[in-house]
Amino acid sequence: MEIKEYVAWRKANLKVEIEKLAKKPKLLIIQVNDDPASDAYVRGKLKDGAEIGADVQLHKLSPQISQEDLFKEIEKANADPSVDGLIVQLPLPKHISEAAVKLAVSPEKDVDGFHPLTKFDPCTPKGIIDYLKREGFPLKGSNAVVLGRSEIVGKPMAKLLTANDSNVTVLHSKSKDEDVRFYIAHADLIVAAVGKQGMLDESYPYKKEAWIVDVGINRGADGKLHGDVVPNLPVARQTPVPGGVGLLTRLALLENLMEAYKK
Ligand code: NAP
Repeated sequence: MEIKEYVAWRKANLKVEIEKLAKKPKLLIIQVNDDPASDAYVRGKLKDGAEIGADVQLHKLSPQISQEDLFKEIEKANADPSVDGLIVQLPLPKHISEAAVKLAVSPEKDVDGFHPLTKFDPCTPKGIIDYLKREGFPLKGSNAVVLGRSEIVGKPMAKLLTANDSNVTVLHSKSKDEDVRFYIAHADLIVAAVGKQGMLDESYPYKKEAWIVDVGINRGADGKLHGDVVPNLPVARQTPVPGGVGLLTRLALLENLMEAYKK
């Protein structure tokens, strides 16, 4: 199934599930920035919530708020039984510690999956794994290469793939190009989460049966969005950008919210 079709199908199922509930699952988004990219992400979350009938609310605070006052707001939401899921939209102002905020959100409500004791998988890797499973990609014993080792994508992606019995190699900016080529030549699954437009091009020795998941979102010189992977490589499957992993990430947040509600 194409990603767009898959996401629409899952959302329709969630909507039916929510229609039967006495109380709608509630997600509270705390935003403490005036960042236009963040505004766009938040709009997406509000729209997704409305689409499936969830109660998604935005609590926008001044970027000048003190860390102490922000923590009070987080504590209030942690203690509010009507709130099932709580996210603090990144980025945060410089005077607020991201690590401390991630620890402040209750692990029971942390639908972003950022807390070390969280009950939830982070949205981008979760969305990817759920889709691969649905499409019947044989994760067990597969050779997976993850390009990128960030806290929000590369590392949790590698962890989830390992939990699903893949053999995982994580590559990064210090990896030698000859090694990148070596591992790609053996890869059944390649997840590119680097942030460099067209980094994976025709010059790499892909297996023709390989699946490539393109996480990258890069604004090109043409003003359009591009992935880390050039389109139409000679492989079995390749996710598009836009209309690929971004949609899976948004869906995974809704799935986590539903899970939080059920718990
Ligand atoms: P990030 O924090 O900047 O991390 C990038 C990673 O790529 C780092 O680990 C870096 O290595 C590695 N890297 C840099 N050059 C490389 C190279 N030549 N070969 C292999 N690895 C290389 O970025 P991120 O937050 O993980 O995001 C990555 C991309 O995904 C961005 O384009 C971002 O916009 C996009 N993204 C998309 C979604 C979505 O929903 N679709 C969600 C999140 C992020 P070092 O650790 O050595 O620096």
